[in-house]
Amino acid sequence: MTSASKKIRLILSLRQSGIIDTALLTAMERVPRELFVPEAFSDRAYEDTALPIGHGQTVSRPRIVAQMIEALDVDDRVKVLEIGTGSGYQTAILSHLCRRVYSIERHRELLRGAEQRFTALGRRNITTRAGDGWRGWPEQAPFTHIIVCAAAPEIPPILSGQLAVGGVLVIPVGDERHEQRILRVTRTEDGLDTHDCGPVRFLPLVEGMPVAPGASGQAESR
Ligand code: SAH
Repeated sequence: MTSASKKIRLILSLRQSGIIDTALLTAMERVPRELFVPEAFSDRAYEDTALPIGHGQTVSRPRIVAQMIEALDVDDRVKVLEIGTGSGYQTAILSHLCRRVYSIERHRELLRGAEQRFTALGRRNITTRAGDGWRGWPEQAPFTHIIVCAAAPEIPPILSGQLAVGGVLVIPVGDERHEQRILRVTRTEDGLDTHDCGPVRFLPLVEGMPVAPGASGQAESR
């Protein structure tokens, strides 16, 4: 089976599993996932599974990417803050659906790889930063849409603080031992409204930057 037909089979299976947003399915069809995984895994790029991308991280499973973007409910007028660029797969899909994507990744090498893919694919509405997503992107706040691709033990207060009133944050919450849930958090005039979108399994949202080799405990700076 060619990769084009594997891709169509995946999109159809997403539709059958309840993803009905046509713009989202079209965006997923436009993003070549095989470019976002190491070559050794390219023949598995259109399986509905997470795949390793280095640094102990994975590109998320397409169904989870679709579910989370559907919960975020974006359109082409909005700017989105994404935490955990990773391979850049989800970022590229978002870039087809939104006006601009701001994406933060703590691993510089992963970010470099993602940036090269955005350039190769001509995605020009993505702004990236190597940094700690727990801190959000204060210079661009407030955001109407924030999406987090790693699990936090709680809703990071700085991120919910960077949400505009009426804005939506989609984030997996829970630790590695217990069940994690995808939460859709809406900022209201008086606080946060939380809706549980179901169980999920993500790698943790790690605090701080990776320690550079030989830096004796000193965190890498921005
Ligand atoms: N959406 C990505 C999924 C990457 S996995 C993709 O489609 O490929 C989650 C990513 O979150 C990893 O790359 C990890 O390094 C990153 N991450 C974890 N904690 C972070 C933090 N505090 N700030 C920024 N990125 C973080």
